Amino acid sequence: MDKTGAPPISVRGIRKTYGDVCALDNVDLDIRAGEFLTLLGPSGSGKTTLLMVLAGFIRPDAGSVRFGEEEVVLLPPHRRNIGMVFQNYALFPHMDAAANIAYPLKLRGVPKAETEERAARALATVQLEGFGKRRIHQLSGGQKQRVALARAIVFEPRILLMDEPLSALDKKLREQMQTELRQLHNALGITTVYVTHDQREALTMSDRIAVINRGGLEQVGKPRQIYGRPKNAFVADFIGESALLPVRAEGGEIRLGGMPLASADSPPDGEHLLLLRPEWLDIANGAAAEDNIFSGAIVSSSYQGESVLLQVSLDGGAQIAARIPARRAEEIPPDGARISLRLRREHTSVIPRGAP
Ligand code: ADP
Ligand code: MG
Repeated sequence: MDKTGAPPISVRGIRKTYGDVCALDNVDLDIRAGEFLTLLGPSGSGKTTLLMVLAGFIRPDAGSVRFGEEEVVLLPPHRRNIGMVFQNYALFPHMDAAANIAYPLKLRGVPKAETEERAARALATVQLEGFGKRRIHQLSGGQKQRVALARAIVFEPRILLMDEPLSALDKKLREQMQTELRQLHNALGITTVYVTHDQREALTMSDRIAVINRGGLEQVGKPRQIYGRPKNAFVADFIGESALLPVRAEGGEIRLGGMPLASADSPPDGEHLLLLRPEWLDIANGAAAEDNIFSGAIVSSSYQGESVLLQVSLDGGAQIAARIPARRAEEIPPDGARISLRLRREHTSVIPRGAP
């Protein structure tokens, strides 16, 4: 239990097929009480289906969903005490903002005076004081989504589920709402399962991220782990920019072509991949003895304000990107010239090749 008294959620062996499409394939997931967990994956990976299984709108073919000790997999949505927010707001157009927010309380038979008070408080929570009498069509996209959020939390649900709630908003508003949603979560502490296909959104908002692909979870972990220590090529490639170079491990040594690499990883003998994030590479001037050095020729450089992004063709043939901090821009040789890049030992991350 957390400070809201909500139970943890445990999902076991969830399977859901549509004809011969397997939308969820034996999913296990533990959601901690009070956490902000994001389901992150490409379109069609099963995010919405899993959210709908949690909410009770979809009954899985097999598996269990427990809220604490209670098995809920057969309970209808209205008996699960869950708040939901969708991408398209799903507000009632014929009601004003306050009536939309009051609706779940009305359904639950809350007395009128209390309903009005709680609806007003929920409006204030989403920073829409004074907007209660507005019709839905008189609200901007961001305001509509705030009303939808207020409606989802007004009855103090034990879980809040959000399915791509910000994807209809433009970039600036989306980023502002990300911060607001996260602050609201910090203040209310409601266990939240958030769905997005936007890796940056997932990294900035989440306590933990569950990466989903083709109906299965690839990795569950803190944003730092998912970004810095991806478990496989899918996660590495889907989150952040990366180059993956084939390497070989043998007798405790890792080799890229003929070059031995210093790494904290000790993969089993065989073929693996070296993960290179652009910002892990730097100009080699002043490199330490344990750093790995990559040499090649600069194909192009593009100035991006806080950094310069280089495309470098390595002597081994691969092309990689390196993001050099702007303060070192003076040291960057011209396009076509040779450059040496360093990769610190602690950034030398070797991951399994995975399924072809
Ligand atoms: P996401 O939300 O990650 O985009 P979904 O959970 O909506 O993915 O869908 C997962 C898979 O299940 C997709 O291949 C999708 O086409 C399929 N699917 C989802 N809903 C249905 C449905 N009602 N009928 C048939 N196939 C469906
Ligand atoms: Mg979806």
